[in-house]
Amino acid sequence: MRRSFRVILSVIFFALFTISACSYPLAAAPAVNLPETVPATPTWVPDETAPPEPLPTSQSTAAPEVRLCRTSMVRAIPEYNNKNLLASFQTLDPFVVLTIDDGYSNTVFDQVLDLLEENEVSATFFLVGTSFGEKIKKETLIRLIENGSDIAYHSYAHPEVSIIEKMSTEDWLHDYQQWSDALLSVIGQQAYDEGVVAYARAPYGAWTTGFMNFLKEQGLEPVHWNADEHTFEANRTPLRDGSILILHIIPENLDELEQLMESDWKVISVRQALGEVCD
Ligand SMILES: [Zn+2]
Repeated sequence: MRRSFRVILSVIFFALFTISACSYPLAAAPAVNLPETVPATPTWVPDETAPPEPLPTSQSTAAPEVRLCRTSMVRAIPEYNNKNLLASFQTLDPFVVLTIDDGYSNTVFDQVLDLLEENEVSATFFLVGTSFGEKIKKETLIRLIENGSDIAYHSYAHPEVSIIEKMSTEDWLHDYQQWSDALLSVIGQQAYDEGVVAYARAPYGAWTTGFMNFLKEQGLEPVHWNADEHTFEANRTPLRDGSILILHIIPENLDELEQLMESDWKVISVRQALGEVCD
Protein backbone atom coordinates (compact mmCIF):
# COMPACT_ATOMS: atom_id res chain seq x y z
CA MET A 1 0.00 0.00 0.00
CA ARG A 2 2.72 2.45 0.95
CA ARG A 3 4.57 1.80 -2.32
CA SER A 4 1.35 2.37 -4.31
CA PHE A 5 0.78 5.64 -2.42
CA ARG A 6 4.32 6.85 -3.32
CA VAL A 7 3.72 5.97 -6.98
CA ILE A 8 0.44 7.99 -6.98
CA LEU A 9 2.21 10.94 -5.33
CA SER A 10 4.98 10.78 -7.95
CA VAL A 11 2.44 10.81 -10.79
CA ILE A 12 0.59 13.83 -9.29
CA PHE A 13 3.88 15.73 -8.73
CA PHE A 14 5.05 14.97 -12.33
CA ALA A 15 1.73 16.14 -13.77
CA LEU A 16 1.83 19.42 -11.78
CA PHE A 17 5.42 20.04 -12.91
CA THR A 18 4.53 19.46 -16.58
CA ILE A 19 1.52 21.84 -16.47
CA SER A 20 3.65 24.49 -14.76
CA ALA A 21 6.51 24.10 -17.28
CA CYS A 22 4.17 24.26 -20.30
CA SER A 23 2.36 27.34 -19.07
CA TYR A 24 5.59 29.30 -18.50
CA PRO A 25 6.08 30.64 -22.03
CA LEU A 26 2.45 31.85 -22.11
CA ALA A 27 2.95 33.77 -18.89
CA ALA A 28 6.06 35.42 -20.35
CA ALA A 29 4.36 36.55 -23.62
CA PRO A 30 3.75 40.32 -23.93
CA ALA A 31 0.32 41.48 -22.91
CA VAL A 32 -2.07 42.22 -25.77
CA ASN A 33 -4.70 44.88 -25.31
CA LEU A 34 -7.67 43.58 -27.20
CA PRO A 35 -10.22 46.15 -28.33
CA GLU A 36 -13.39 46.15 -26.33
CA THR A 37 -15.46 46.03 -29.49
CA VAL A 38 -14.56 44.75 -32.93
CA PRO A 39 -15.50 47.06 -35.84
CA ALA A 40 -18.39 45.68 -37.85
CA THR A 41 -16.54 46.29 -41.15
CA PRO A 42 -12.78 46.29 -41.66
CA THR A 43 -11.19 49.71 -42.28
CA TRP A 44 -10.05 50.13 -45.93
CA VAL A 45 -6.67 51.75 -46.35
CA PRO A 46 -6.15 53.28 -49.81
CA ASP A 47 -3.12 51.92 -51.62
CA GLU A 48 -1.30 54.38 -53.89
CA THR A 49 -0.14 51.58 -56.14
CA ALA A 50 -3.47 49.79 -56.39
CA PRO A 51 -5.36 50.07 -59.70
CA PRO A 52 -8.18 52.65 -59.60
CA GLU A 53 -11.71 51.61 -58.88
CA PRO A 54 -13.61 51.16 -62.15
CA LEU A 55 -15.19 54.48 -63.00
CA PRO A 56 -18.80 54.69 -64.12
CA THR A 57 -19.08 54.56 -67.89
CA SER A 58 -20.20 57.65 -69.78
CA GLN A 59 -23.44 57.91 -71.67
CA SER A 60 -21.86 56.83 -74.94
CA THR A 61 -22.38 53.37 -76.32
CA ALA A 62 -20.38 54.01 -79.48
CA ALA A 63 -16.88 54.35 -78.05
CA PRO A 64 -14.32 53.34 -80.65
CA GLU A 65 -11.95 50.50 -80.01
CA VAL A 66 -8.93 51.78 -78.13
CA ARG A 67 -5.63 49.95 -78.24
CA LEU A 68 -4.40 50.21 -74.69
CA CYS A 69 -0.71 50.10 -73.93
CA ARG A 70 0.42 48.26 -70.83
CA THR A 71 2.65 51.15 -69.88
CA SER A 72 0.42 54.03 -71.01
CA MET A 73 1.24 57.33 -69.32
CA VAL A 74 -2.02 57.73 -67.44
CA ARG A 75 -4.94 55.68 -66.20
CA ALA A 76 -7.87 57.20 -68.05
CA ILE A 77 -11.19 56.33 -69.65
CA PRO A 78 -12.28 58.31 -72.74
CA GLU A 79 -15.35 60.42 -71.99
CA TYR A 80 -17.83 61.28 -74.76
CA ASN A 81 -20.19 64.24 -74.85
CA ASN A 82 -23.84 64.13 -75.89
CA LYS A 83 -22.81 64.17 -79.57
CA ASN A 84 -20.58 61.10 -79.11
CA LEU A 85 -17.43 63.16 -79.48
CA LEU A 86 -14.37 62.51 -77.35
CA ALA A 87 -14.33 65.62 -75.16
CA SER A 88 -12.41 64.69 -71.98
CA PHE A 89 -11.19 61.74 -69.90
CA GLN A 90 -12.30 60.24 -66.63
CA THR A 91 -9.21 59.75 -64.56
CA LEU A 92 -7.62 59.79 -61.13
CA ASP A 93 -4.38 61.20 -62.58
CA PRO A 94 -3.72 64.97 -62.68
CA PHE A 95 -3.22 65.46 -66.42
CA VAL A 96 -4.51 67.71 -69.18
CA VAL A 97 -4.61 66.81 -72.89
CA LEU A 98 -3.22 69.57 -75.08
CA THR A 99 -4.62 70.04 -78.60
CA ILE A 100 -3.47 72.89 -80.86
CA ASP A 101 -5.31 73.93 -84.03
CA ASP A 102 -4.76 75.61 -87.42
CA GLY A 103 -1.36 77.23 -87.84
CA TYR A 104 -0.82 79.98 -90.39
CA SER A 105 2.38 81.51 -88.98
CA ASN A 106 5.62 79.56 -88.98
CA THR A 107 7.10 82.00 -86.45
CA VAL A 108 4.34 81.37 -83.90
CA PHE A 109 4.44 77.64 -84.69
CA ASP A 110 8.15 77.57 -83.82
CA GLN A 111 7.47 79.47 -80.57
CA VAL A 112 4.86 76.85 -79.65
CA LEU A 113 7.34 74.05 -80.35
CA ASP A 114 10.03 75.88 -78.32
CA LEU A 115 7.71 75.89 -75.30
CA LEU A 116 6.78 72.22 -75.74
CA GLU A 117 10.40 71.13 -76.12
CA GLU A 118 11.61 73.21 -73.15
CA ASN A 119 9.04 71.41 -71.01
CA GLU A 120 9.40 67.99 -72.67
CA VAL A 121 5.71 67.96 -73.54
CA SER A 122 3.89 66.44 -76.54
CA ALA A 123 0.60 67.67 -78.00
CA THR A 124 -1.83 66.77 -80.79
CA PHE A 125 -1.95 69.31 -83.63
CA PHE A 126 -5.07 69.59 -85.84
CA LEU A 127 -3.63 71.17 -88.96
CA VAL A 128 -4.91 72.57 -92.24
CA GLY A 129 -3.76 71.11 -95.58
CA THR A 130 -3.15 74.37 -97.44
CA SER A 131 -0.48 75.32 -94.86
CA PHE A 132 1.75 72.30 -95.48
CA GLY A 133 5.01 73.40 -97.08
CA GLU A 134 3.57 76.90 -97.57
CA LYS A 135 2.84 78.82 -94.37
CA ILE A 136 4.30 75.96 -92.31
CA LYS A 137 7.65 74.69 -93.53
CA LYS A 138 8.67 71.05 -93.81
CA GLU A 139 11.37 71.53 -91.11
CA THR A 140 8.76 72.69 -88.60
CA LEU A 141 6.46 69.73 -89.34
CA ILE A 142 9.36 67.27 -89.03
CA ARG A 143 10.45 68.97 -85.79
CA LEU A 144 6.92 68.56 -84.41
CA ILE A 145 6.98 64.81 -85.12
CA GLU A 146 10.51 64.34 -83.76
CA ASN A 147 9.33 66.08 -80.58
CA GLY A 148 6.80 63.25 -80.15
CA SER A 149 3.74 65.31 -81.05
CA ASP A 150 1.04 64.20 -83.50
CA ILE A 151 -0.59 65.66 -86.62
CA ALA A 152 -4.33 65.11 -87.16
CA TYR A 153 -6.88 66.10 -89.79
CA HIS A 154 -8.58 69.50 -89.60
CA SER A 155 -9.69 69.87 -93.29
CA TYR A 156 -7.73 70.86 -96.38
CA ALA A 157 -8.67 74.55 -96.50
CA HIS A 158 -10.70 75.29 -93.32
CA PRO A 159 -13.92 76.19 -95.18
CA GLU A 160 -16.52 78.55 -93.74
CA VAL A 161 -19.38 77.03 -91.73
CA SER A 162 -21.86 77.92 -94.54
CA ILE A 163 -19.79 75.73 -96.93
CA ILE A 164 -19.25 72.97 -94.33
CA GLU A 165 -23.01 72.65 -93.91
CA LYS A 166 -23.38 71.84 -97.62
CA MET A 167 -20.52 69.32 -97.82
CA SER A 168 -21.49 65.68 -98.31
CA THR A 169 -19.69 62.60 -97.03
CA GLU A 170 -18.07 62.25 -100.50
CA ASP A 171 -16.94 65.89 -100.39
CA TRP A 172 -15.20 65.21 -97.09
CA LEU A 173 -13.55 62.05 -98.43
CA HIS A 174 -12.13 64.14 -101.28
CA ASP A 175 -11.05 66.87 -98.84
CA TYR A 176 -9.31 64.32 -96.62
CA GLN A 177 -7.49 62.86 -99.62
CA GLN A 178 -6.25 66.34 -100.58
CA TRP A 179 -5.11 66.98 -97.01
CA SER A 180 -3.35 63.65 -96.78
CA ASP A 181 -1.63 64.01 -100.21
CA ALA A 182 -0.43 67.52 -99.34
CA LEU A 183 1.08 66.41 -96.04
CA LEU A 184 2.64 63.27 -97.50
CA SER A 185 4.29 65.18 -100.35
CA VAL A 186 5.88 67.61 -97.85
CA ILE A 187 7.06 65.34 -95.02
CA GLY A 188 7.47 61.96 -96.79
CA GLN A 189 6.16 58.50 -95.97
CA GLN A 190 8.36 57.73 -92.96
CA ALA A 191 7.48 60.89 -91.03
CA TYR A 192 3.83 60.49 -92.08
CA ASP A 193 3.67 56.96 -90.68
CA GLU A 194 5.31 58.09 -87.47
CA GLY A 195 3.50 61.33 -86.77
CA VAL A 196 0.05 61.27 -88.37
CA VAL A 197 -2.75 59.93 -86.17
CA ALA A 198 -6.28 58.79 -87.04
CA TYR A 199 -8.05 61.61 -85.23
CA ALA A 200 -10.05 64.48 -86.70
CA ARG A 201 -11.54 67.79 -85.65
CA ALA A 202 -14.19 69.62 -87.66
CA PRO A 203 -13.32 73.26 -88.48
CA TYR A 204 -15.12 75.51 -85.94
CA GLY A 205 -16.30 72.31 -84.25
CA ALA A 206 -19.05 72.08 -86.90
CA TRP A 207 -19.71 68.34 -86.61
CA THR A 208 -22.24 67.92 -89.44
CA THR A 209 -23.83 64.60 -90.43
CA GLY A 210 -21.77 64.53 -93.64
CA PHE A 211 -18.55 65.00 -91.66
CA MET A 212 -19.48 62.39 -89.03
CA ASN A 213 -20.37 59.80 -91.70
CA PHE A 214 -17.03 60.43 -93.40
CA LEU A 215 -15.18 59.91 -90.08
CA LYS A 216 -17.03 56.65 -89.53
CA GLU A 217 -16.16 55.40 -93.02
CA GLN A 218 -12.51 56.27 -92.55
CA GLY A 219 -12.27 55.05 -88.96
CA LEU A 220 -11.19 58.47 -87.68
CA GLU A 221 -11.74 59.45 -84.04
CA PRO A 222 -13.61 62.75 -83.60
CA VAL A 223 -11.82 64.80 -80.93
CA HIS A 224 -13.70 67.73 -79.40
CA TRP A 225 -12.69 69.62 -76.23
CA ASN A 226 -14.09 70.78 -72.89
CA ALA A 227 -11.70 73.68 -72.21
CA ASP A 228 -10.30 76.55 -74.29
CA GLU A 229 -8.16 79.68 -73.79
CA HIS A 230 -10.96 81.32 -71.80
CA THR A 231 -10.45 78.65 -69.13
CA PHE A 232 -7.44 80.69 -68.00
CA GLU A 233 -9.50 83.85 -67.35
CA ALA A 234 -10.68 84.80 -63.86
CA ASN A 235 -14.06 83.44 -62.71
CA ARG A 236 -14.05 80.70 -65.35
CA THR A 237 -14.33 76.98 -64.64
CA PRO A 238 -10.72 75.88 -64.19
CA LEU A 239 -9.09 72.91 -65.88
CA ARG A 240 -9.89 69.57 -64.28
CA ASP A 241 -8.18 66.18 -64.36
CA GLY A 242 -8.58 64.71 -67.84
CA SER A 243 -9.63 67.93 -69.61
CA ILE A 244 -9.03 68.25 -73.35
CA LEU A 245 -7.80 71.80 -73.92
CA ILE A 246 -7.92 73.53 -77.31
CA LEU A 247 -5.49 76.35 -78.13
CA HIS A 248 -4.64 77.88 -81.50
CA ILE A 249 -1.32 78.67 -83.15
CA ILE A 250 -1.81 82.41 -82.79
CA PRO A 251 0.23 84.99 -80.83
CA GLU A 252 -2.77 85.61 -78.53
CA ASN A 253 -2.63 82.03 -77.20
CA LEU A 254 1.10 81.95 -76.32
CA ASP A 255 0.38 83.41 -72.86
CA GLU A 256 -2.07 80.61 -72.06
CA LEU A 257 0.40 78.02 -73.30
CA GLU A 258 3.10 79.47 -71.05
CA GLN A 259 0.72 79.46 -68.08
CA LEU A 260 -0.07 75.82 -68.74
CA MET A 261 3.62 74.94 -68.95
CA GLU A 262 4.27 76.71 -65.64
CA SER A 263 1.39 74.93 -63.90
CA ASP A 264 1.57 71.61 -62.05
CA TRP A 265 -0.48 69.80 -64.70
CA LYS A 266 1.06 66.86 -66.50
CA VAL A 267 0.44 67.82 -70.13
CA ILE A 268 0.07 65.05 -72.73
CA SER A 269 -1.18 64.43 -76.28
CA VAL A 270 -4.41 62.66 -77.27
CA ARG A 271 -2.38 59.62 -78.34
CA GLN A 272 -0.65 59.46 -74.96
CA ALA A 273 -3.99 59.84 -73.13
CA LEU A 274 -5.58 57.05 -75.18
CA GLY A 275 -2.65 54.81 -74.32
CA GLU A 276 -1.74 54.45 -77.98
CA VAL A 277 1.84 55.44 -77.25
CA CYS A 278 4.11 53.71 -74.77
CA ASP A 279 6.76 55.57 -72.87
ZN1 LIG B 1 -9.66 75.49 -86.93
